[in-house]
Amino acid sequence: MERRIDVKTSAVQPTFVVRDSAESDLWGTVLNQLDEVAERLRLDPGIHAMLRQPERELTVSVPVVMDDDSVEVYTGYRIQHSSARGPCKGGIRYHPDVNLNEVRALAALMTWKCAVVNIPYGGAKGGVQCNPSEMSQDELCRMTRRFTAMIMPIIGSRRDIPAPDVNTNAQTMAWITDTVSMLERKTVIDIVTGKPIPLGGSKGRTEATGRGVALTTRELLKRRGQDPAETTVAVQGYGNVGSHAATILDQMGCKIAAVSDVTGGLYRPQGLDVTSINEHVTEHPRGLLEGYQAPGVERIDNDELLTSDVDVLIPAALEHQIRVDNAPDIRAKMIVEGANGPTTREADDSLNDRGVIVVPDILANAGGVVVSYFEWVQDLQCYFWDEAEVNSNLERIMVRSFDEVWSFSQENDVPLRLGAYMLAVDRVAGAVQSRGVFP
Ligand code: NAD
Repeated sequence: MERRIDVKTSAVQPTFVVRDSAESDLWGTVLNQLDEVAERLRLDPGIHAMLRQPERELTVSVPVVMDDDSVEVYTGYRIQHSSARGPCKGGIRYHPDVNLNEVRALAALMTWKCAVVNIPYGGAKGGVQCNPSEMSQDELCRMTRRFTAMIMPIIGSRRDIPAPDVNTNAQTMAWITDTVSMLERKTVIDIVTGKPIPLGGSKGRTEATGRGVALTTRELLKRRGQDPAETTVAVQGYGNVGSHAATILDQMGCKIAAVSDVTGGLYRPQGLDVTSINEHVTEHPRGLLEGYQAPGVERIDNDELLTSDVDVLIPAALEHQIRVDNAPDIRAKMIVEGANGPTTREADDSLNDRGVIVVPDILANAGGVVVSYFEWVQDLQCYFWDEAEVNSNLERIMVRSFDEVWSFSQENDVPLRLGAYMLAVDRVAGAVQSRGVFP
């Protein structure tokens, strides 16, 4: 079913047609957010129109010989939203729900994320619509290599640098690196980030997003004059982002009162023993909290985790976990978004009305792309840093970015999310403005 989104600015095309509401959801949200920010910034209508449309969209067919010798044809995308501030940057996702509008939205979010932490990148995203849980490693390898060959005309270390995203990992990046290297007849390590360390990956990349979330939380507590030792935290999602955020906040002295994953949650108001939880997760065959037991630790479900009596809530699992139906019951006074898009637009309004401070995803979880940027810099120079150097540079950028968003939001009397978007869009618009419109 088609639906139309009205556009406010006269120079922008009067209507934008998208296919159906399920597909267009995130892209519609991203466009609405941009329109609101454009209005507040009094953005030049021409620049607004340019930012409403990705610069380049490539749809490719990806035929793969399956293990039973049949041929399956998948659809893949690589979308470059903006290269105004530098080469495009963004992950590649393998998922049955991947579609054009989702990739468009995620590409635009990468543009704003790179701008808000002021690293010299634009935004891109890619994906293949497939179900990786039903594919063998060999099939995934062949699909990755064919997809890489199909998007090679538009990617490149100075053009567009992919990275892992949902259901892709360091191994996927190694296959991409090898495919490009074979086709170009030289070893090209600066084509992707998130690679294994022996192939030019960066130390500190695995923990980077969680570390950035923890640093952002620490800066927020400072601004609120709150002692970490007196602060309780609940973390939803105990995967890459959630487990590292919890571990580093625990080391900073916070009490991690609740954690959860797909199997449910653990709660101890005086603080959980994060070290023993990490040992349990490492030993669990699927890396889950399931089966963990310790004195005084209560089992809770994910709804209870979200509404638990803590100071800080860190959603670090999936999108749209905080919605109008549960937002009024959230007791935390601060939310730091580890996941991408964990709060719906309506829930965000309701939290703002209640004075809950929300540090938005484009700032809070930017640590991953910042260390991806460090990986690219190291690859370009063929000179590799030790972990302490990676971590101290990450801290410098996260603290600076938090300060800038905080001050900008205070000066303009807007919530942090709106402040972060205004700052990001203004930076991208400034680059477009000074470059001018070619030719
Ligand atoms: P992951 O797969 O490592 O972990 C996800 C965790 O969420 C797992 O513990 C899983 O069990 C849990 N989970 C799944 N469904 C749940 C549910 N219904 N309730 C509670 N927990 C549930 O993924 P990740 O890399 O940690 O990513 C988490 C989020 O952070 C995603 O939104 C991702 O886009 C975002 N993000 C990740 C990075 C990164 O560098 N990994 C960077 C930026 C943003």
